[in-house]
Amino acid sequence: MFDKVLIANRGEIALRVLRACKELGIATVAVHSTADVNAMHVKLADESVCIGPPTSRDSYLNIPSLLAACEITGADAIHPGYGFLSENARFAEILESHGITFIGPKSDHIKIMGDKIEAKRTAKRLGIPCVPGSDGGVTDEKEALKIAKKIGFPVIVKAAAGGGGRGMKVARTEGDLVDAFHTARTEAKAAFGDDAVYIEKFLEKPRHIEIQVLGDGQGNAVHLGERDCSLQRRHQKVWEEGPSPALNESMRSEIGEVCAKAMRDLGYLGVGTIEFLYEDGKFYFIEMNTRIQVEHPVTEMITGIDLVNEQIRIAAGAPLGIKQSDIKLQGHAIECRVNAENPATFRPSPGKIAYFHPPGGLGVRVDSAVYQGYTIPPHYDSLVGKLIVHGRTRNECLMRLRRALDEFVVDGIETTLPLFRTLVRNSDIQNGLYDIHWLEHFLNDGGMDGTPQA
Ligand code: ADP
Repeated sequence: MFDKVLIANRGEIALRVLRACKELGIATVAVHSTADVNAMHVKLADESVCIGPPTSRDSYLNIPSLLAACEITGADAIHPGYGFLSENARFAEILESHGITFIGPKSDHIKIMGDKIEAKRTAKRLGIPCVPGSDGGVTDEKEALKIAKKIGFPVIVKAAAGGGGRGMKVARTEGDLVDAFHTARTEAKAAFGDDAVYIEKFLEKPRHIEIQVLGDGQGNAVHLGERDCSLQRRHQKVWEEGPSPALNESMRSEIGEVCAKAMRDLGYLGVGTIEFLYEDGKFYFIEMNTRIQVEHPVTEMITGIDLVNEQIRIAAGAPLGIKQSDIKLQGHAIECRVNAENPATFRPSPGKIAYFHPPGGLGVRVDSAVYQGYTIPPHYDSLVGKLIVHGRTRNECLMRLRRALDEFVVDGIETTLPLFRTLVRNSDIQNGLYDIHWLEHFLNDGGMDGTPQA
């Protein structure tokens, strides 16, 4: 096992990793930018190192600074959290060559899954169902048109290097396609420095359902059920829950086993998430995330398994400690991502938290790194914290969530808490009747403050 882990992240996920390390008896090193001197992860770690100015590029993404911090503190592994360098294959390789363990998958697997065209090809080869579309990248307009006609409109043009919902354009007609094709390429080039795009059938009313997997790179892999993350705004997840209101036990174990087998065949090491769109009883692979995800607590609440603990143990060379038959899903969990944003316009609202009272009680978990008097810096994402609630049934979970949301007080800044208080009382949400467009429609129809969103 590692003696000392450096956590190359900030915010709630840095704290989450720190907690797992403490329980495993591993010493922790926090790194921080000059804007994060007063951050909670710095206060709670055994040691801390300042790695640069506020801009992420110069601090949390600065590989030489992170290596120097490892050198100074004698850390033998780095946990990247999510975002920042967590899916950077080159970073994983550099660490390897310095004899520092990257707590994550093998760099080859990060590379494959980081290129969506390559990821889709691999998924197909491993027997994972995919969205019909181009076999690989599409470079000219005529070819794009030919493929679109073959799979049928509407289609979506997506960036191979995509992430965060950027570089995606929908085309409903042949006339739209030429435009969509060129815009997607230009956006992809600007955002990712790579203009490779591919084409997929655009699904009209899918749900976003993802399968959590865990493998030890020694041929063992299990799945831990699904999370339904259909409630999204601008392709960003807002509310996640598990199990999905749309699946039954046999559908769950069928797709779960497809994913677990694929991971066994791949020799996958660590935690991962295989994301699907789900429509009319069918699953369509869209991408795989080779890291711990923001919404991982949903799975932890219904399985009782500490995913970050497993991730660290496996990275240290331990075999998978759990068999598929050990994993029993219990009850229901929902996570709300509470952001420092106006709940109707989503304008960021960084600033000082004048008063902070998180909810508590049975089945309530708050993963947050803020505290009363803390000033949320404007340089990073706007997550204030995640409220995760567990109940024996979905209904109990919803009732408990309603209670917990009403108890949650964050003063001094605007947060998206009012949005969740509205959602939890909505009949479509209560009945589990929503797809990936539901939230956008709700907001566009003035669901929050009576005025349609700009
Ligand atoms: P990113 O890596 O940018 O998040 P994804 O491929 O995961 O990109 O897609 C993000 C979101 O875009 C999905 O959750 C879904 O809302 C939408 N999307 C992606 N592909 C399709 C598709 N073929 N049909 C309909 N919606 C899609």
